[in-house]
Amino acid sequence: MARKPIIVGNWKMNKTMAETKAFVDAVDPKITDTADWGIAVPYTDLATAKAAKNLIVSAEDIHFKDSGAYTGAISAAMLKELGVNWTIIGHSERRQYFGETDETVNLKTLQALKNDIYPIVCVGESLEQYEAGITKDVCKTQTEALFKDVAKEDVEKIVIAYEPIWAIGTGKTATNEIAQDVCGYIRSVVADLYDEEAAEKVRIQYGGSVKPEGLAKLLEQPDIDGALVGGASLVVDSYLAMVAALD
Ligand code: 13P
Repeated sequence: MARKPIIVGNWKMNKTMAETKAFVDAVDPKITDTADWGIAVPYTDLATAKAAKNLIVSAEDIHFKDSGAYTGAISAAMLKELGVNWTIIGHSERRQYFGETDETVNLKTLQALKNDIYPIVCVGESLEQYEAGITKDVCKTQTEALFKDVAKEDVEKIVIAYEPIWAIGTGKTATNEIAQDVCGYIRSVVADLYDEEAAEKVRIQYGGSVKPEGLAKLLEQPDIDGALVGGASLVVDSYLAMVAALD
């Protein structure tokens, strides 16, 4: 089964509403159907970004509870009311700076699925873990954790983003061979948890210093179905260069 590529820009803590409007006005009309193209934006930009007709609009995080005393957090219902049905979960920056754990990543994944929100769940090793040669062990642990209690029919709704932390914002991309090797391994972990059929349906992105020039070759890798793109997704010209690269 052919998996449709999914390329999502992760804006992180960048862009005001005015900047979001300018970006969407420039980029959205030029989106093609070569892939599912999206942007994950700060909460305050979601309503503005939803003016897009073609781009998927995603949140960058979601809380795992329905409501309650969780100052600063945003619930599934709040996203749904904005018409937002995608969210990133478990980005390494949230794991590193905001206390995200394998357990909360799993709870958030379940919460998203329960509310018909598609989760883009991030896994990936640190530089220290990469150098210690335990990349696959780390990815296995994180992948198994995120799928805990996920029903088989929901597996295909999840996008897994493999992001080696040492490649994020560093300009140091993993080679296509390394990215493919790990993404293929992650797919085999899903196959072990469920079966081959479920594993063949799940889309796996690579993330970490993806640039327009490298995108087409990256997507030629058999187990890489897309990209989660930070810096290169913030600039109109480079986002459009990614779109052009797949035309
Ligand atoms: P960069 O593309 O800026 O390395 O960021 C990758 C990333 O963290 C996407 O989620």
